[in-house]
Amino acid sequence: MARRDATEARCDGEAEATRLRAADGLAGPQVASRVLVVEDEPGIVDFVRRGLESEGFEVESAGDGIEGERLALGGDFDAVVLDLMLPGRPGFEILQTLRRARPTTPVIVLTARGEVDDRVAGLEAGAVDYLVKPFSVAELVARVRAQLRVIAQASASTLAAEDIEVNLLTRKVVRGGRVVTLSTTEFELLVCLLRHAGQVLTREEILSAVWGYEHDPTTNVVDVYVGYLRRKLGSRDDPAPIFTVRAVGYRLGGAG
Ligand code: CA
Repeated sequence: MARRDATEARCDGEAEATRLRAADGLAGPQVASRVLVVEDEPGIVDFVRRGLESEGFEVESAGDGIEGERLALGGDFDAVVLDLMLPGRPGFEILQTLRRARPTTPVIVLTARGEVDDRVAGLEAGAVDYLVKPFSVAELVARVRAQLRVIAQASASTLAAEDIEVNLLTRKVVRGGRVVTLSTTEFELLVCLLRHAGQVLTREEILSAVWGYEHDPTTNVVDVYVGYLRRKLGSRDDPAPIFTVRAVGYRLGGAG
């Protein structure tokens, strides 16, 4: 029993640490959030820049769509404020490119009154919000903050290693961009392996963390479920990164 409690505590403790690290990384007080403003009207750029900077954000700006897209894709921004009507490249096209290339970067779209673009409204993208001109700086700052919070919460509930990502809230599992459907037990097994990515877990540790009760020590249920997981996550050409450590147990990821 003691062994089981220790394993569970280890799993939970690490999960909490992962959550805290993820939240810190995105909303850390020491590092200013960087915002890219893509807008061709200099008056609006100035007003937005002053507003965001006075609230502690770092601001970069681009005055046309081509430069805006280049910066948005290449720079490490925490959020993008994007006008839709831009010279060079329409904001909507930039938005589509960004959603594919950087799906977790929040984008606040600026539109003229009565021109809320249906294509934007129809986008099934959580990290997109829009603001109708004219808007107040306070409102813009509030929207940027809200989007950053959403992103911080989402990544705090995500576990990832190698090319596998699991969302603990939605229970969505993705490997290399492909959504994988798992049973409840397979999911719990994967979560346990991910929480200890790079470490060897014994069959006993896995058994008590995932199944939660004492099993016949000769049971092969762990091996059976690792087999299921490998089949669902991998293929002959692209095996899942779950390794057998002879006479000990299993390890997800890690070298050698
Ligand atoms: Ca414009």
